[in-house]
Amino acid sequence: MEKSLVENHRKGERTNSGSLGKVKIKRDAENKTPLIVFLVQYLLGRLGRKVNAQTYRFSEYFEGFDQVEVVRKIFGNETEKILNETKIEFVSRMGYMGVSDIDGHIIVSADYLKHGDLRHIYLDIIHELVHVKQFREGKKLFDRRYGYTERVTEIEAYQYAVDEARNIGMNDEEIFQYLKTEWISSEKHRKLAETLNVKVRE
Ligand SMILES: [Zn+2]
Repeated sequence: MEKSLVENHRKGERTNSGSLGKVKIKRDAENKTPLIVFLVQYLLGRLGRKVNAQTYRFSEYFEGFDQVEVVRKIFGNETEKILNETKIEFVSRMGYMGVSDIDGHIIVSADYLKHGDLRHIYLDIIHELVHVKQFREGKKLFDRRYGYTERVTEIEAYQYAVDEARNIGMNDEEIFQYLKTEWISSEKHRKLAETLNVKVRE
């Protein structure tokens, strides 16, 4: 859980548009969760207890993903079923998205959803959906024997995101920037890009 919340932390520029091709991403998430729920979650989180408050259906906030080719590639014939079953939780912490390794639901920072670069949010959702698939397959999402950038589950999730980034027209430089996160060193960032066959800036 802790680790899942430190995933995919990015600062993005503000975009007003809420749609990207077939998909629609609602950005008003934080309005739906009262402050008191955040407080309770925070306090229970500190006690190390599982919290099941304020979760929504994935398809409520992210529409049209069942029509996206890469999502169908991830889940196959079970796409609709899994997207219907997948829950999403909004948290007030700044700039995070991840998947719970306890029950496989997606955790999104309401702030990131509102202010992040829409393409990055889209790619992060693809990345997290790969983790949803892995969780359902019984894979260990956060195997601490491996570092973040060497973990097979991460490489697989990033590979889907990178392929989709190319598909929506991003160039290697943009993808390289997308792969940059606050918690990996520039050396690991370059290594990750190389692993994913993204051209590394000289
Ligand atoms: Zn990940």
